[in-house]
Amino acid sequence: MGQINEVMKDEKYAKICSHDLLCALQEGDSESIKRWVKVMSKKFRSLRERWEALRVAIGNVESWGRYRAMMELAIRQIEIAQDIKAKTDTSGRESLVSVNAMLAESYLSLARSNLRLSEFSKCADYCGKSLTYVSKCRGDSPEVTSRIAGEIQLCRGSAHLRLGNYKNSLEDLERALSIATTRQNVDLECMSCCALGRLYLSLKDYEKAAFFPLKASETLSRQDSPSNRIAIQLHLSEAYRKVGKLDEALGSSEEAIKFALEIGDRGSQAYCLLSFADIHRAKLDSEKAFPRYESAISMMREVGDRYGEVKTLVGKAKMHLKKKDYKEAVKHYKEAMNIAELIQARTESLSINGELALTYQRMTRLQESRECLVQYHKLLREMDLYCGACNEPISEKHQQLEALPCSHIFHLECVSEHGFVNTRACPSCRKMMSKPPP
Ligand SMILES: [Zn+2]
Ligand SMILES: [Zn+2]
Repeated sequence: MGQINEVMKDEKYAKICSHDLLCALQEGDSESIKRWVKVMSKKFRSLRERWEALRVAIGNVESWGRYRAMMELAIRQIEIAQDIKAKTDTSGRESLVSVNAMLAESYLSLARSNLRLSEFSKCADYCGKSLTYVSKCRGDSPEVTSRIAGEIQLCRGSAHLRLGNYKNSLEDLERALSIATTRQNVDLECMSCCALGRLYLSLKDYEKAAFFPLKASETLSRQDSPSNRIAIQLHLSEAYRKVGKLDEALGSSEEAIKFALEIGDRGSQAYCLLSFADIHRAKLDSEKAFPRYESAISMMREVGDRYGEVKTLVGKAKMHLKKKDYKEAVKHYKEAMNIAELIQARTESLSINGELALTYQRMTRLQESRECLVQYHKLLREMDLYCGACNEPISEKHQQLEALPCSHIFHLECVSEHGFVNTRACPSCRKMMSKPPP
């Protein structure tokens, strides 16, 4: 992300944090990262230099999709920041302030590695920890603290999205976007838009799902970070596919994989493969879809992205379903469900239950079908995925949605038609709307 780019230009850290680190990773054993840390610590005597080196290293391993290494380095970075804090506590106030910024940033890195490894609850916790350090950064420049705060909101919003906490997610992501626009932080703006697009994609509002990444792509003329381009194109591809624009979807995925290969981003390459597989599935071409699902799964496992594994297994199940191979479909849905429950990906659990219920029905296994339906409705209630105006579920089918300033989400139709436009209060929480209705 943004903060990394400025440091990467620093020649001092360049070789050891890119070439040497990549070599260590290619050795592939669990000790190689520890050995790299030792070599790095010998090279840099001061704790602050070590912390900086780790910051560059963390940015690099994240962009390469080496999320387990990212987590190890983030833990090491926190330890160093704590050492610095312990030393500063006794010697002067001025530098203590920026130590809090260092701690905030280190916890953010740890949070982000947890997000990448599908540890969503842990991610949200570490974001909270990071925010408490931000609140202690009184002496730092607003430039620095608002950047970190914005990135925390983005990270936590993404974790809440995966956990199916839509209201919390929307609150965090909108705060991130607002910080990004006030501070003219292009990277943060781009990533916040992509995350908001993802939120509406999960809720099946495909218009907004495409609107946000398109909005993000407007920022591209102002910068050219390959990571941002990859994120935008991947999200656009999925949004296009959902509305049947398969050529556009293919174009976006091809664009994304070009950049992902260029920077060696294994994590995004896995999603590109998944997206190619899904497009072939939409074209009913199982001979092309299946091998791509296979490659996507093995790459998701390699980088440790369990959420991506769920998405891939679901895609594979749907392909089997299209071929009327119900037995294989059930097998893959169940495998996906186990992981989804483990990582608390409630939206995925919800849709898998819905799809399994239908599949069992086709197989006339009615008891199992009913059990899935019960589970499905339980999750809908738990996540409170109902429109506060008409009490019908949100996210069951493609429908345009509208979020009120209190972050409660309604059907767009209901916002325009129902009386609460006149009362100007949200029917779910009674908060007054501060902005005019659409
Ligand atoms: Zn409604
Ligand atoms: Zn409300």
